[in-house]
Amino acid sequence: MTVPTARDVTRAALWMGLYALLALFPLLLLLAAPARWGGGFSEELASALGFLALSIMAMQFVLTARFQWVAPPFGTDLVYAFHRHVTAVALGFALLHPVLLFGSSLRGALHYLWPWAAPWEIAAGVWSTYALLALALTSWLRKRLRLPYEAWRWLHGLLAVLAVAVGVWHAIQAGRLLSSPVVRWLWLAWTLAWVGLIVRVRLVKPLSLRAYPWTVVEVRPERGDAVTLVLEPEGHDGFRFRAGQFAWLTLGPSPLGGAEHPFSFSSSSQAAPRVELTVKAVGDFTRAAQRTRPGQRAWLDGPYGSMSIDSFPDADGHVFIAGGVGAAPCLSMLRTLADRGDRRHHLFILATSEWDRTPFREPLAALQERLDLQVVHVLERPPPGWTGERGLVDEPLLDRWLPRGGRYGHFVCGPSPMMDAVETALGRLGVPLSDLHSERFDLV
Ligand SMILES: Cc1cc2nc3c(=O)[nH]c(=O)nc-3n(C[C@H](O)[C@H](O)[C@H](O)COP(=O)(O)OP(=O)(O)OC[C@H]3O[C@@H](n4cnc5c(N)ncnc54)[C@H](O)[C@@H]3O)c2cc1C
Repeated sequence: MTVPTARDVTRAALWMGLYALLALFPLLLLLAAPARWGGGFSEELASALGFLALSIMAMQFVLTARFQWVAPPFGTDLVYAFHRHVTAVALGFALLHPVLLFGSSLRGALHYLWPWAAPWEIAAGVWSTYALLALALTSWLRKRLRLPYEAWRWLHGLLAVLAVAVGVWHAIQAGRLLSSPVVRWLWLAWTLAWVGLIVRVRLVKPLSLRAYPWTVVEVRPERGDAVTLVLEPEGHDGFRFRAGQFAWLTLGPSPLGGAEHPFSFSSSSQAAPRVELTVKAVGDFTRAAQRTRPGQRAWLDGPYGSMSIDSFPDADGHVFIAGGVGAAPCLSMLRTLADRGDRRHHLFILATSEWDRTPFREPLAALQERLDLQVVHVLERPPPGWTGERGLVDEPLLDRWLPRGGRYGHFVCGPSPMMDAVETALGRLGVPLSDLHSERFDLV
């Protein structure tokens, strides 16, 4: 079992407490200035759930607003997982709201499900719930519906703003709790301030990036349908990053309007401001990126993410477990360790489909000359005569290779099914949660 330490529990409790306080703030505001409206307990509860649903939805914008300080205690993965799961909570509250409000007369109110038949202040609530429902379904079923990521991203933003804005309108018009103008304005400002954060990601960030262009100075083909783009800042100092972090990359003459995609740095953090990103061809953007030529313009928003060797400065060594191009951030961490002259023992378990398509084979072999590094290749389809590990990374394989004794930092990066299996196996093998860091390449 993965063992959370007291520090993990305290940090998690503090963050969850802060989140709960912020989400409950609108209700606390209403409690501080209660309105006299004569509703019974179930009506009060229904209203509270409605306000809570709106508050949670509004706060979703802060989780994805790319504040560097939001991710550190848990990692970007968990923040996005929380973002997904808490949507279900908001949806549950939004659906319970009319059920409790109408109570025994619910059957008679069912025609409101057809919003055109409802008074407009109620129709607003129905539309808000529909927007939230559509948002949740298109996110949970995106891959099955074959919705392209970019189209989904725009739809997601639109539905989110719609759900909150129309929901706020519904609360003001239909809710007698907001009869006091002061409470109404305070509540409105609080809720819409969070929603405004979408402008930060979609407009303010790209606009601010215009002053910081980057140039692609080299394009290196890699094994397994990938290229490494070497970037240098153009007329500015670039930024420092921690090995293991990632940035959002836009290719083209302007950061505005272009599609931006997240990629881990694969170069040493000691080589900054020059950075390298390794891009595997899987879809439209990454396929186009393979045709990038030196001299082309690029834009980087970053660094982000909390997976880094620098989170474990006192470790006795590190264990990296990666699948395919998930090796990129691990390579960055190993290159950084080599540049720092690190003398500790490190293990890298790299799972790939075939030997010829195994990325970073040569750089890893070169790193073994500079580091106390053991590399274990695990091949799904090994060539004839292969005597190394084969198949998938599972608990027995990890048990065979994991170092005994000492405290190691563990980093896992690869396709989701592999990560789920590895994280579970590491937990069963007794790796504490605090010694484990992972990065998922599919946020949605
Ligand atoms: C933190 C992080 C680090 C990553 N590091 C690397 C790396 O070092 N090397 C590498 O090859 N890949 C990396 N990826 C994955 C890479 O971002 C996707 O492969 C790429 O965005 C796919 O875009 P596409 O249009 O080519 O393919 P699509 O077919 O459009 O997308 C394939 C999948 O990639 C994800 N994706 C697509 N667009 C985006 C986007 N704009 N934002 C977020 N996710 C998106 C979605 O899950 C989608 O289902 C990383 C992803 C994340 C989240």
